[in-house]
Order: sequence, then C-alpha cells, then structure tokens
Amino acid sequence: MVVEKEKCTGCYACVNICPKNCIHMEEDENGAIYPVIDKTKCVECNLCKKICPSINKVKTYYPKECFAMYGKNSELIKKSTSGGIATILAKNIIKKDGVVYGASFENNEKGLVQTIRIDNEKEIEKLQGSKYVHSYINKTYSMAKEDLENKKLVLFIGTPCQIAGLKSFLRKEYDNLYTVDLICHGVPPQRYLKDEIKDLTDENIDGISFRSKEGFILKLYKDSKIVKQISKEESIYYYGFLESLFYRENCYQCLYAKPERCSDITIGDFWGLDKEAEIYKSKKEGISVVLPISEKGSNLLDELIAEFNFEERPVQEAVNGNSQLQHPSKKPRNYCKLKKLYLKGGLHRIKQNVFKKRKIKQKLKNNKLVYYIYKKVKEK
Ligand SMILES: Cc1cc2nc3c(=O)[nH]c(=O)nc-3n(C[C@H](O)[C@H](O)[C@H](O)COP(=O)(O)OP(=O)(O)OC[C@H]3O[C@@H](n4cnc5c(N)ncnc54)[C@H](O)[C@@H]3O)c2cc1C
Repeated sequence: MVVEKEKCTGCYACVNICPKNCIHMEEDENGAIYPVIDKTKCVECNLCKKICPSINKVKTYYPKECFAMYGKNSELIKKSTSGGIATILAKNIIKKDGVVYGASFENNEKGLVQTIRIDNEKEIEKLQGSKYVHSYINKTYSMAKEDLENKKLVLFIGTPCQIAGLKSFLRKEYDNLYTVDLICHGVPPQRYLKDEIKDLTDENIDGISFRSKEGFILKLYKDSKIVKQISKEESIYYYGFLESLFYRENCYQCLYAKPERCSDITIGDFWGLDKEAEIYKSKKEGISVVLPISEKGSNLLDELIAEFNFEERPVQEAVNGNSQLQHPSKKPRNYCKLKKLYLKGGLHRIKQNVFKKRKIKQKLKNNKLVYYIYKKVKEK
C-alpha cells in the first residue's frame, strides 16, 4: 500500500511514477481498486509516497468568479450532461491541434470507463456525458506528460482527485496544460456498475448514458440503439449512486469537496441558481456552474465567450446550492452492512435490503405523525 486504504483515491499517480513499473492496481473484495507494490522489484525510492496527493496535499485556490453558463450550440450540447462546457473547451483545444484527456465508456479488458486521449473532433463524443462511476486513469498521466514535453496543448478533464493526481505526478507547472475538474459527489467501484449492466442485459453494450434532457435515466446502448433503460428509482446502482450508498471509502473524506479547487476551471451543475436570475428565466435545465480558478482558466473562458450564454453570479450562490462545494458526501450508517451484503449476494442483496427499507419509509411518510416519531427515533 502507498497510503492508508481509506485515503487512497485510486488516481494511478503511483502507478505512473514508478521507475521500476512495479505498481499495479488490484480490486479489493468489493471491486474498488488499490495499488499493489511488487516488493521483489521495488527499490524503495519512495517516489510513490512522495507524489501521492493523499499524503502531500496539492494547492487549492478559491474561485476568481462564478458563472451560470450553457453552450449556444444546442446540437453540440445535446449529449452533454449539463451545459456542454466540457465539450466546448475540448473542441477548442483540438482545433488548436492540441489533445484532450477525458473519461470514455470503453468496456474492454482495461476497464468499463477509462480516461482516454483524443486528438480529433470526431472522438469528442466519447467524452461527452457524465459516467457516474470510478474512471480508470491507467497510464494517461505519463501520456499527458509526454504530450506536454512535446509542446502539445493539453486539456485534462477529470474528477478533482484525478486532477490532483496529475499535478502531483507532473511535479511542475506547464504553460501548455489546462485542467478542468468536475464537482463530484463520489464514485462507486466499477464492479457495481458491471453487475447492474449484467443484470439488465446480455448484450455486450458499447455505450452508456446516465442523464439526458429527459432526466436521470440509465440507458445502455449497442450500435447506437438503446437496449435497456431504467429510471434512477428502479436501478439500485443509480439509486445507490445518488444516495451515496457505496462509494470508494476515500470519497467520504474527500479533500476536494470544498470551494477551493485544484484545477484551472471547475464545472458542475448550477443547483443553487436563483430563480430570479435572467439566465434561469431563459433556460431552466442544463445550466452549468463554471468557476474559473486560475488566470489561465479565466483567459481560456474569455476566448470562448461568444460560444456561451452566461450570467455572472456570486461564488457563494454556487457554494450554497451545491453540497459538494461544502463537504464530502455523508457516509451512510449502514455502509459496512451494505458492503457485507454485497459479499454475500452481490448487488441483488443490496437491492432487496435498500428497496425494502425505502418502501417501509414511504409507507411511514404517508402517515405524518408516525413518520415524525420514526425520524425522532432515528435521530437518537
Ligand atoms: C462521478 C461524477 C459525480 C458528479 N457529481 C456531481 C455533483 O455532485 N454535483 C455537480 O454539480 N456535478 C457533478 N458532476 C458533474 C456533472 O455531472 C457534469 O459532468 C458537469 O456539470 C459538466 O457537464 P458538461 O455538460 O459540461 O459536460 P459533460 O458532457 O457532462 O462531460 C464532462 C466531462 O466529464 C468527464 N467525465 C465523465 N465521467 C467522468 C468520470 N467518471 N470521471 C472523470 N471524468 C468524467 C468527461 O471526460 C467529460 O469531458 C459529477 C460528475 C461525475 C463524473
């Protein structure tokens, strides 16, 4: 182990930095991945510990400004989760002959969802849309370093812990690097999502979508056709993701769930947007919150301003409306129990337990007095 299990984000910085290539990731009994060091090859240089972002904290900065934003090109943002900001930034970097790193649904031996490198506009589609699961970085930090050293313009998009991992791995600033982090709720291990997919279809799917303009619906695709779709209430995976039931341990003590950020630009959904804001009146859904953190980030957004509809808002409005900018997701009281249930009978057992409780709670809710007593008892 490089760092205590509860703190490890599975960012792959150690895997990428090891000069002897003796660190690889392995799944634990619940499918979450952690680094394993091959002691027979390790020369104890301790580089892995020196650059681990969970041991040596990366610098974070308070946002310079805050914008409510969405892309003007409705076709382009159709497949995006929120306002399509990530896609517009990616397109711009590719246009300038740069490369973009982001998460894609790959479904191969290296993982279900992985961070990949793209260098052409056709592939941007692969990155579009949030994949609500832990995305594997694999060797992309090393690839990005090579691109940076070769003077390529690089845009790296990921969760804040992945951006922190990249920065720790690089150990120096690059003028040709732009980083964008997502406001992040937490990530379940890929195995949970694999189980859910297996339960829903026998097809070897090649696409996934968690959100569309219709709402929070998990859709599985094969050859661009939907083979199965399920709502967030019916899918135990999606329900568990939204209710923070089975994230990686570290997500419940996330170092980046605060207003101060480690990237050039932070993007997310503008949950707390004032309904009186002009932009809200013109479009109620799919409005992103965009927080420029560095000068470089501000300049990149300025360059692209003609492509966005936007309105400046107070930073505090974004913070107040988005709990992930205040504190990490709360670990459920039955977290350990759910893990044990998974070991006994997989996602099915979790589903039985969680959905049964939800049903009881719903029944109680229908009787206001009984529900009030139930809540008081639970608070104790
Ligand atoms: C696991 C996860 C949890 C999130 N939780 C919140 C939240 O609590 N509050 C909130 O406001 N927003 C959250 N978001 C962000 C939100 O879903 C949108 O991605 C964001 O608003 C940007 O939308 P967009 O339309 O600009 O880009 P999108 O089209 O959604 O694409 C955004 C970029 O995200 C990258 N990406 C997609 N999936 C992953 C992944 N699993 N890991 C790393 N990078 C990925 C892609 O490379 C793409 O470039 C979360 C995103 C993820 C992936």
